[in-house]
Amino acid sequence: MSGTPPIRLQFDCDIVPSVRARMEYAFRVYAAVYGHRIVGDNSNEKARTVVYGGKLSNNADQLDSLRIPARYQPILASRSIEKVTRCRYAGEEFFLFHGLDARTGRPDWLAEIFEWLSSGHERGIRARDGIGRIPEREMIFARHGVPSWKPHASCLMAWLENCLIGGDSQPALPRAPSPIPNVDHLVICSHDVDFYFTTRGSALHRLIKNLAIAVRLYKSQDYFLENCSMLVKLLKGGQIGDYLPETMRRLAEFDATSTFFVVPRRAHRRDPNYSLLEIAPALKDAVRRGYSVEIHGSYTSSIEARTLLLEAAELRNLLGKPPKGSRQHWLRFHSTDDLFRAVAEAELQFDSSTGFNDQVGFRSGASFAFPPYNFQQERAYDFLEIPVTLMDGGLLEESRRTRETPQFLADRVLGESRKRGWGGISILWHNPVEALPVPDRINRVFWNCAANKVYFRERWVSTDDFFTLCLRRYHEAGLLTKIQVPEVIDSNGAEMGANDAFGVPDPVSPNRHVAKRCRFDFPVHGSSNPLLYFT
Ligand SMILES: [Zn+2]
Repeated sequence: MSGTPPIRLQFDCDIVPSVRARMEYAFRVYAAVYGHRIVGDNSNEKARTVVYGGKLSNNADQLDSLRIPARYQPILASRSIEKVTRCRYAGEEFFLFHGLDARTGRPDWLAEIFEWLSSGHERGIRARDGIGRIPEREMIFARHGVPSWKPHASCLMAWLENCLIGGDSQPALPRAPSPIPNVDHLVICSHDVDFYFTTRGSALHRLIKNLAIAVRLYKSQDYFLENCSMLVKLLKGGQIGDYLPETMRRLAEFDATSTFFVVPRRAHRRDPNYSLLEIAPALKDAVRRGYSVEIHGSYTSSIEARTLLLEAAELRNLLGKPPKGSRQHWLRFHSTDDLFRAVAEAELQFDSSTGFNDQVGFRSGASFAFPPYNFQQERAYDFLEIPVTLMDGGLLEESRRTRETPQFLADRVLGESRKRGWGGISILWHNPVEALPVPDRINRVFWNCAANKVYFRERWVSTDDFFTLCLRRYHEAGLLTKIQVPEVIDSNGAEMGANDAFGVPDPVSPNRHVAKRCRFDFPVHGSSNPLLYFT
């Protein structure tokens, strides 16, 4: 934020180097989310200082400084979580891994943020489900009653922000300010292409399989009838599963773009029904229209075969440009350590695989995108993790289990993210225009959210757009420095920097044309228009 003093982090001399590295990482991600510039210890510039560790007392803070109790214990990183400490602040319930300092009543904000972002609560879980993933029933959400729909790391950052900037005179949880004028919240819209029309035989096979799923698994008459009607359409000569053009047409109506994740290699029976060549025309058309097309890492790509680098090359050969990122098919990975190592080896700029399969919410506690932590090198990775917070299948499962409506569950997750900051979370609907992966009522939730985003000054963007709009925030906090701010090309052919894409006049040449798709025009905030719901 311009106009406010920068921030700096200092350590008490007792803090060991690995703990310093981890806390500094958490501090930098906090700075990126809240838009603080960081200055080094040697700088004479006036700055607000966070002191980590040292002797704490009720008046431990000097002017413009905040002391954080050093409660981090690295040992926790290899054990399952036995208990979480509950406490309240500013009307919110907090769940702490490292408890509260008895004298000051403060948590170790940086350690708590670090645990969330580094999947600390998953590291001690040895069990794996039949797919090879960490079972959701073993996570702290199921075992310790921690609500998955709350972004706990974001709440902790808000508490820290209030104490550091607001002086903690009033308990409050200030919202992280958006880096983009006229936009309050960013959602990275995405679609994993797990089935696509290739032959009539494969479409028929899929529909018959869905009828069985409708009867045995979903026990849903609607889903059964929806698939029957698609079966009739197919038998009459229509196409099923050629959904990219219709999805893009409808997204354009809502002034939204998206990212399509495609599986470049078919090696397992759980991989999709298509080859890249079979769907190449649809993918090239999507790229031409400004959508991002990225890797949906095949079923065995991160655990057994380790083929992410190879799959990146396949997609690059098809589209003529290197892919930026990936998401694992079935969100399948053994641990975040393994996953992130594979993403780094493939030299990608982002991953978007951390999310739940059978519920919705914030698995890493983050309602923002962040570079993960590299434990081998004790530093941040040079790529971004974009958490998946809403997925069609997870929404269906949680709704079936809790009997809450899927719309309520989706609105709650998006609402929590909007409340805490400017987003950077992903939502995933496989095919939002046909009842192929999920019943149509789940797809209607997607379009309801798309219609209502305008009332929250929310923008749905592709991963490419997100980098263009937000990368500077991370750079200013000393993160992701190996990734260059993307340039966008305006209609006159001139290159534009990210500021132009924000819709801000270029101070050097204010008459420069600003690309239309990057302009954000919203109705007045707080408009009394009722929200729209398709039924
Ligand atoms: Zn998939």
